[in-house]
Amino acid sequence: MISMAEYIWIDGAKPTQRLRSKTKIVQLGNTDEPTIDQFPDWGFDGSSTYQAKGHSSDLVLRPVNYVHDPIRGHGNYLVLCEVMNPDGSPHESNTRAKLRSTLEKGAAKEDAWFGFEQEYTLFRGRTPLGWPEDGYPAPQGPFYCGVGSDEVFGRQLVEEHMELCIEAGLMIYGINAEVMPGQWEYQIGYRGIDEETPDALTTGDHNWFARWLLYRVGEEYGVNATLHPKPVRGDWNGAGQHTNFSTKALRSPETGRKTMEKYIERLQNKHKDHIQVYGADLHDRLTGAHETCHIDEFRAGPSDRGASIRIPLKVHQEGYGYLEDRRPGANADPYVVAERILRTICDL
Ligand code: ADP
Ligand code: MN
Ligand code: MN
Ligand code: MN
Repeated sequence: MISMAEYIWIDGAKPTQRLRSKTKIVQLGNTDEPTIDQFPDWGFDGSSTYQAKGHSSDLVLRPVNYVHDPIRGHGNYLVLCEVMNPDGSPHESNTRAKLRSTLEKGAAKEDAWFGFEQEYTLFRGRTPLGWPEDGYPAPQGPFYCGVGSDEVFGRQLVEEHMELCIEAGLMIYGINAEVMPGQWEYQIGYRGIDEETPDALTTGDHNWFARWLLYRVGEEYGVNATLHPKPVRGDWNGAGQHTNFSTKALRSPETGRKTMEKYIERLQNKHKDHIQVYGADLHDRLTGAHETCHIDEFRAGPSDRGASIRIPLKVHQEGYGYLEDRRPGANADPYVVAERILRTICDL
């Protein structure tokens, strides 16, 4: 069978890396579920993606995960790749390889699960959806989880994106309209389904696939999703990527409470290191207002939406479960966030 495989990778743009992709026609034999090594390595021009100088520009795309392509349909694939140097070592922009290495150094045995709440803002041209060309919409209040054409903007695109994620087999957990008009959220990761593996690599991969689908479906609507953490200045909520995580010890009724205390202390001690890698322009969002804790402070608490680390109500009551890191910006790299959390809580 001849298939279209969309090879997707993350470029070297600074300070925020972006997605790239190109199509390879592949012959996969008589199977709907190929193994990842049936997709051959491929190359690209790294000098056009901020990943190489012009005189030695060839870099390697190594397929590491694939899903069914819900846009091109049956028999076609989205293939996520790591970027490698010609000698086979990971390219310096390859943040997934750094996460793999931290898992191998000891984090993997903690059996961590992740869930990312990816917020984003839909723009047509320079204006967020639902905003007048000049001036501002009504103040925030009715838009979060709203319904009705005066409160919710872009639902058709958002629904289509969710369906594409489901068809692709991504671990999408839910969606909701956000506090600022034109702003939305999807969640990717742990969702309590038995045969799924919500580990850091898989959930990170799934969020990058879901981002790619969001931009791609936006093309059909002439609408662009931005992950900027503060897309509109002033009294408007920013966009984050709350990162929920648990380990075997945190999920266990016997060890949960003690583990929670230990993790929070470690996270507090490393606050500055986390802030540094939680996305560009984070200070614009972490102001202490709009459901955030100020960037220079660390607070952890039950149900507290002004905390750095929120302990969900049920987790606080029962003494085990998961924690929510509310600091990462919408534009943060989920591999980098997960890697930093694992290194801190496992004390590696
Ligand atoms: P919020 O109340 O903060 O808006 P959401 O309902 O948007 O939370 O999202 C909940 C997130 O928590 C999802 O991403 C989900 O995958 C994640 N999650 C739930 N339970 C766990 C767990 N045990 N370990 C890791 N992540 C979890
Ligand atoms: Mn949420
Ligand atoms: Mn949210
Ligand atoms: Mn949240």
